[in-house]
Amino acid sequence: MEFLKELGIADKNLGTSTGSNWINTTGSVINSYSPVDGNLIGSVVETDKAGYEEVIQSAAAAFIEWRTWPAPKRGEIVRQIGEALRAKKSALGQLVSYEMGKSLQEGLGEVQEMIDICDFAVGLSRQLYGLSMHSERPGHRMYEQWHPLGIVGVISAFNFPVAVWAWNSMLAWVCGDVCIWKPSEKVPLCSIACQNIVNEVFTRNLVPEGVSTIVNGGRELGEWLASDTRIPLISATGSTRMGKAVGAAVGARLGKSILELGGNNAIIISSEADLDMALIGAVFGAVGTAGQRCTSTRRLIIHDSVYDAFRDKLVNAYNQLRIGDPLDQHNHVGPLIDRDAVRQYQESIEKCKQEGGNFIVEGGVLEGDGYESGCYVKPCIAEVKNHFAIVQHETFAPILYLIRYSNIDEAISFQNDVPQGLSSAIMTLNLREAEQFLSQAGSDCGIANVNIGTSGAEIGGAFGGEKETGGGRESGSDAWKAYMRRQTNTINYTHKLPLAQGIKFDI
Ligand code: NAD
Repeated sequence: MEFLKELGIADKNLGTSTGSNWINTTGSVINSYSPVDGNLIGSVVETDKAGYEEVIQSAAAAFIEWRTWPAPKRGEIVRQIGEALRAKKSALGQLVSYEMGKSLQEGLGEVQEMIDICDFAVGLSRQLYGLSMHSERPGHRMYEQWHPLGIVGVISAFNFPVAVWAWNSMLAWVCGDVCIWKPSEKVPLCSIACQNIVNEVFTRNLVPEGVSTIVNGGRELGEWLASDTRIPLISATGSTRMGKAVGAAVGARLGKSILELGGNNAIIISSEADLDMALIGAVFGAVGTAGQRCTSTRRLIIHDSVYDAFRDKLVNAYNQLRIGDPLDQHNHVGPLIDRDAVRQYQESIEKCKQEGGNFIVEGGVLEGDGYESGCYVKPCIAEVKNHFAIVQHETFAPILYLIRYSNIDEAISFQNDVPQGLSSAIMTLNLREAEQFLSQAGSDCGIANVNIGTSGAEIGGAFGGEKETGGGRESGSDAWKAYMRRQTNTINYTHKLPLAQGIKFDI
């Protein structure tokens, strides 16, 4: 496959990089099979303890130098990474699509998100503002400045194999930090491709070895990072189960963490919604990336008066969905990541039925020509109650739950009544409903939209969610502050030493 060659991916790859060097390790081999056709794409050698130590040493040494580069100069390096990504957009988009299974459009969109965050970070590199304050003491100046933290450990999930790393790394780099990336063991080749792209830019610009490093492996590698006191910040994206473990390990050593965890996202479809628009938002939200986005629409909370009409529209739309090879742009829905995900999808359908769920579009696993990987499933729809245990749980698959409501207060309480708090939306043309939904008594999520679905987000806003979603914020707005430490400075330019609060201390 041409794109593998273009990205420097071999059949067998070393998985540990101290910067421009890929190093030999004795870890076991991770084989990466495509969920698209079940074929082996390539393999990566896991990082062992010695390799991990080498990476930490390389990153720690790089930080000493990198932190002294002026931030706009670091921004210039990130600008060049953006250019390199533009040149490789097609190849990297194809790899994302083939290794993860999302549609080619979404694979390319993910690379575009990387480019966008590069552009954002370049501008940011000339900002990183601190405030100055008026001191209560005469002849004193007080201000704050932001300094880099050191090593940032980035643990990422399979469903955004490249964008989440870019969201973290591009900001961390302009902030003066260095990064160790542990990608998901389900999509290791994407990390090799990204590191190759970055290495080319870093080498050309004599960036210190160790500013961008990679370790590969599963949960154990993540645990090493989370408990390592040499890593002041861990940014971890994945399941709530993982986030609870990482949060506890980082918290136990009083480190900092950014946790970006599971969602259980709902769209409220009001009696005053534009139903055609709502349909597009709901169907794309539920079946895009085969329901494997943290912002995927899992629940539709529909007003009684439009329930039947909207349900019929949904069933009609689902009957037209084409499921198959995501690299073929005629298809709407690609595969799940692996057979384990297919098993979880089947189990969730069973549990839903046991709790009384009524499937109006049946699910099932597809077999036969084009479905040899065993990872293709039918998007399905069930009528449920919000309190069902299975509805309270995030199943990472295209299962959509319908819930009825009769007034807006009830709709908002259903929306909020789940453990997660990532993305939410209301479809309405009624200003009062929209404003109530966005008010402090409205949605409790990190993202709340009006007349847009739950799925996807622009890089300019801070991204993340509340409750079991972990509370972290990444990407735009002032999310950069999490990658830096704030220092308050007071300078006395007088000949006296007055104490704050007028305290007298004469000697
Ligand atoms: P996962 O939790 O299984 O794995 C995520 C990463 O964490 C992997 O790199 C894995 O190796 C590592 N890991 C697992 N257990 C760990 C532990 N105990 N300590 C340290 N590291 C550990 O998640 P996944 O299946 O790859 O991804 C799907 C999940 O990610 C969904 O819940 C989805 O909602 C969530 N997600 C959230 C966001 C967000 O921004 N909120 C974005 C993407 C995905």
